[in-house]
Amino acid sequence: MLWVGTSWKMNGTLGFARDYATRLAKALADGAPSGVQPFIIPPATALTVVRDCLGPDSPVLLGVQNAHWEDAGAWTGEISVPQAAEAGAALVEIGHSERREFFGETDATVNLKVRSTLRHGLRPILCVGESAAVFEAGDSVEHVLGQVAAALADVADPSRVVIAYEPIWAIGEHGREARPADIAPVFAALADEWGDRVTAILYGGSVNPGNAVDTLRVPGVDGLFVGRAAWTIDGYLGLLDIAAGAVAQVA
Ligand code: PEP
Repeated sequence: MLWVGTSWKMNGTLGFARDYATRLAKALADGAPSGVQPFIIPPATALTVVRDCLGPDSPVLLGVQNAHWEDAGAWTGEISVPQAAEAGAALVEIGHSERREFFGETDATVNLKVRSTLRHGLRPILCVGESAAVFEAGDSVEHVLGQVAAALADVADPSRVVIAYEPIWAIGEHGREARPADIAPVFAALADEWGDRVTAILYGGSVNPGNAVDTLRVPGVDGLFVGRAAWTIDGYLGLLDIAAGAVAQVA
């Protein structure tokens, strides 16, 4: 199964969400392409709108971009995993590099959030990735394996976890597109260590229609976690088609 999804980050009005989700529901009215698991992670404010526009039988999984590890309490500005679940989330994105850099997310809080997510029956999308300096020093594999090990410490059963490898140097508008050779060693190591124990291992970072096929061919890549290229519904549908083509080629 290839997982193909997007986080909208802090983008999108309710009108945008309604339009995107309505068009997605129409495009997937007969189900998701065979072998492809779509997912959308809108801002939390738009989650119920996207859920309602997609409808109860949609194959699209929904998520939130962050959730606190406590179930409730005096944590101003936060939302909890049970709250996210009630609003329609099946996935919780945890440890994105922007959260680590700008909001003080640490390996320890990532671990608490992963455990809370699993405790409530949702799936963590665990984001890991190295800086340009670590990449240039040739330490990517060690860094990423260390992040995953810390995030999954004391997790007895990681089988519901989705790992997203997103090198910091490759994401966002200042990122540079990764070549398959850049990311292959990390995927080899992740697949070796975690491939049989987690749900999927995704790649994220400047994915677009021009590089998606080659990225999906990197051994160990089970899907794509996309930002900018999926922020239009046409862009996202195009990537779902590319993934469907990749599934058909190996079938
Ligand atoms: C990201 O920021 O996690 C991401 C994958 O973004 P983009 O695809 O826009 O590089």
